[in-house]
Amino acid sequence: MNVKFWGSRGSIPVCGKKFLKYGGETTCLSLTDKDGNIIVIDAGTGIRNLGKEIENKGIRRIYIVFTHQHLDHILGFPFFTPLYNAKNEIIITGCSYNLDSICKVISEIMKPPIFPVKFEEVYAKISFIAMKKDGIKINNLKIVPIELSHPDGGLGYRFEENNKKIVFLTDNELKYIHPGGRSFDEYVQFAKNCDVLISDADYTEKEYEIKKTWGHSTYIDALELAIKCNAKKFILFHHNQERTDKQIDLIVEKCRKIIYENKIDMKCFAAKAGEEITI
Ligand SMILES: [Zn+2]
Ligand SMILES: [Zn+2]
Repeated sequence: MNVKFWGSRGSIPVCGKKFLKYGGETTCLSLTDKDGNIIVIDAGTGIRNLGKEIENKGIRRIYIVFTHQHLDHILGFPFFTPLYNAKNEIIITGCSYNLDSICKVISEIMKPPIFPVKFEEVYAKISFIAMKKDGIKINNLKIVPIELSHPDGGLGYRFEENNKKIVFLTDNELKYIHPGGRSFDEYVQFAKNCDVLISDADYTEKEYEIKKTWGHSTYIDALELAIKCNAKKFILFHHNQERTDKQIDLIVEKCRKIIYENKIDMKCFAAKAGEEITI
């Protein structure tokens, strides 16, 4: 599996000199399986650049898996150029176990007066499949969901292929259980022995004092999850909109220090737009 980050910023896109290294686009990842099938995860603003790459490569069948419906995760959808090519087939899933919810979210953002092109007017062939509690299979790739602890809900995922596991848990408050969410220990079990853990690490501990219940985790809680689940690689994700490159570097340094002092064999990075990992 190959996973590439197209946007790792939380809440709202940012730009400027202070954000060049990690990027300002909001959540979007692409996951390519060993047969070359492409799965897009969320349609934050990062999906705009991914769309161009998909068109350049001539990929005609595209899967999109949504975590949830918050604006920063769907904002880029109308700007995903493969939508406007009649040769393309786009298969959408996720967001919840309810097929209606994902159809509604997408059609709501693509209609006047919010957006000039109606969802029904895009040229690509669009279809929806429901996410199942015990997961779905796309070719050889298994996608297993878990309910996020986040206002308005959502789903995190474990992607499995050939005994390799990538776990993606963003917009997830590890130390507070929102309605429908799971406990810290359940997330540990879900991510147990994964090769890559990509986790919401939006807040510092100081910020969390006033932002508890807002639906995001501190980087320290995310690190604790990574250590307890025995992840091989831990990737900090959903960078706060105010967090500069320098501050993210410092957070990574602090995490690495804790990992080193506890003699843990785990790599730690912060997600950077344009970067990819192959396992
Ligand atoms: Zn978000
Ligand atoms: Zn959210």
